[in-house]
Amino acid sequence: MLKSFIPLKFKLDSSITDKHSAGGAAQARFTQGFFQRSFDRKLLIRVFLAIICTTILAFSIVAPTYRDFTLSRQNLHDIQQYRLVLDTANFLSAERGPANVVMSEEPSLDSAGMKRLVEFRQRSDAALAQLADVSDVPLGLHNHTVPPDMLQRVRYQLALARSKVDRIAAIPRAALKTAEIQDAIESMFEVSELFRAVIAWNADELVQHDTGLAAPALLGQMLSDLREYGGRAASQIIAPLTTEQRLPPQNVIESRRSQGRLLELWQLINSQNAIYSTPSLIKSRDEIERLFFRGGLDLVDQVIDEGRRKSRYTLTATEFTERFVPTMRPIETYRSEFLDAVVEKFADASTNALFGLAIVVLVTAIVLATLIGIILSVRTHVFRPLMQAHDDVLRLAEDRPIATATRPTQAGEIRDLFQAIEVLQGKLQERASLTRELKVQAETDGLTALLNRRMLDRFAQSSPIGERTNDSMCLILMDIDHFKKVNDTYGHVTGDRVLIQTAELLRSQLRACDLIARFGGEEFAVLVSSNDLSGAVSIARKIRLAMQRETFTTPDGTPFRVTASFGVASGRRGERAWSELIELADTALYRAKSDGRNRVRFARNTLSAPAAMSTTRDNLALERRSPK
Ligand code: GH3
Ligand code: MG
Ligand code: MG
Repeated sequence: MLKSFIPLKFKLDSSITDKHSAGGAAQARFTQGFFQRSFDRKLLIRVFLAIICTTILAFSIVAPTYRDFTLSRQNLHDIQQYRLVLDTANFLSAERGPANVVMSEEPSLDSAGMKRLVEFRQRSDAALAQLADVSDVPLGLHNHTVPPDMLQRVRYQLALARSKVDRIAAIPRAALKTAEIQDAIESMFEVSELFRAVIAWNADELVQHDTGLAAPALLGQMLSDLREYGGRAASQIIAPLTTEQRLPPQNVIESRRSQGRLLELWQLINSQNAIYSTPSLIKSRDEIERLFFRGGLDLVDQVIDEGRRKSRYTLTATEFTERFVPTMRPIETYRSEFLDAVVEKFADASTNALFGLAIVVLVTAIVLATLIGIILSVRTHVFRPLMQAHDDVLRLAEDRPIATATRPTQAGEIRDLFQAIEVLQGKLQERASLTRELKVQAETDGLTALLNRRMLDRFAQSSPIGERTNDSMCLILMDIDHFKKVNDTYGHVTGDRVLIQTAELLRSQLRACDLIARFGGEEFAVLVSSNDLSGAVSIARKIRLAMQRETFTTPDGTPFRVTASFGVASGRRGERAWSELIELADTALYRAKSDGRNRVRFARNTLSAPAAMSTTRDNLALERRSPK
């Protein structure tokens, strides 16, 4: 507002007045950039660290659970494979039953015994083929594949034993020799013996992989042995029974040895009862004791008794086999149920581990997602609004407008913050407008709206903008003649109107580059930015004439005229030069008054004034050329 009163040439050095605010703005801009950069980077680093820590934490929780899951899955696979091995052992042992039958019967290719034998052999072969097959391994698991040479040995021995059985089966009963039957039976025992090595190898593999598998591996092995030695106890006496010969002591010893082993195994198996104890297993155990240990072995004892005393048996070999084999069924049932229970236990463990893994992964994912959600939410609802508030405050500090319309809907403290910023903005605007008003009041004259004396002094005393050479100026002092009389004649109000009208007249007569001020009561000052004294005198004279011609009126319309006297001087800007310049102009004004008023006089100082104008004479000459 004030600046509009001040012509450009007289403007103060804005770097002095604006230094503080400009410095503040630069500081604010610097702070803003630094703050935003560091804040952004800090947030990014912290978010990154939080996500890394959470991921490590999540990994440390997920990893063991995943390990448990893969271990239990592998264990389940291993146990199922082990079960296959044990089943194969069972099939190989079971093959001896029908083999004994066909060897004790008259040769026949389509007898029931032969059909059973073919069936049992196919079952054994299929099981062996399955063991050798390594192609079907589920993803992420590994097979404990039975070494091929072990299987090869079993196959070779099996083929040998079968050929012996087949040869004997083709011989009529009357021509059969006990030693040949015994040899074929022992060949079959040898198959089982070789396969026991496979079981032992597999059990060892399992325990090495996970010691938790030791109990089921050992128990499975013992149950397989129970089935094997159960069969042997009978097979060891079948050859003499077939040929109805007396039992050789060796056969009795072998059978008794097998029985002793069976009892030991049974004791050991019973000592492990606590590990797997389902109602059906308990029932099968009772069945084994009742049917096998009492029924089956009693039958063996009966044959041994009969065979040791004389070679007359109450049972044929086929009858003995057909009665003995069913007594071993509870052993097979028990073995099968036991393996079912083991597989089920490991399947449960695997399912539980998978479930646990799923829960842990889910919870971890939820925690991570929540964390990221919180970070994003804090960024959107706290960080960004804070940055915007920070930007707004900086804009307010720099006196720049703030955009209140684009703000997202905020809640709580952030909304309060923005409301406070708006209040602050309102107060700052109010204060700025008051400041402007006060500034106008402090720097202008209330009656004429011209600059006041204080501002005139300030401009004249200050250093000019730009080059030092441009600091010369001329001062025209103007004093209304007999103004007291105007007041006295027409009243103060009319006097005031004269002052206002005079100010308007000055504005209309002067250029935009000249500075007009109210110097005192009815005195006015004009600063002309030039060292051209004659030019300033011309301006003064132009104003004097205009004043002389101006018609003033009283409130009731009575016209009257007023004249003014002028003192003109030239000088420089600056504190001392200004008082000297006033002094000179005032003296010239005094002379204009004393010379009769309504005239222009200039000072006798020599600055830039033509030599002809620097003396009183020249003053008079000038006055003569152009009256007054
Ligand atoms: P001279 O020709 O010698 O200058 O005579 P003069 O009457 O003009 O001078 P003087 O200094 O005796 O009187 C000035 C008068 O101006 C006195 C004062 O009352 C009057 N005056 C000063 N300021 C104002 C103002 O703001 N309004 C009015 N109405 N009168 C004012
Ligand atoms: Mg006066
Ligand atoms: Mg006067």
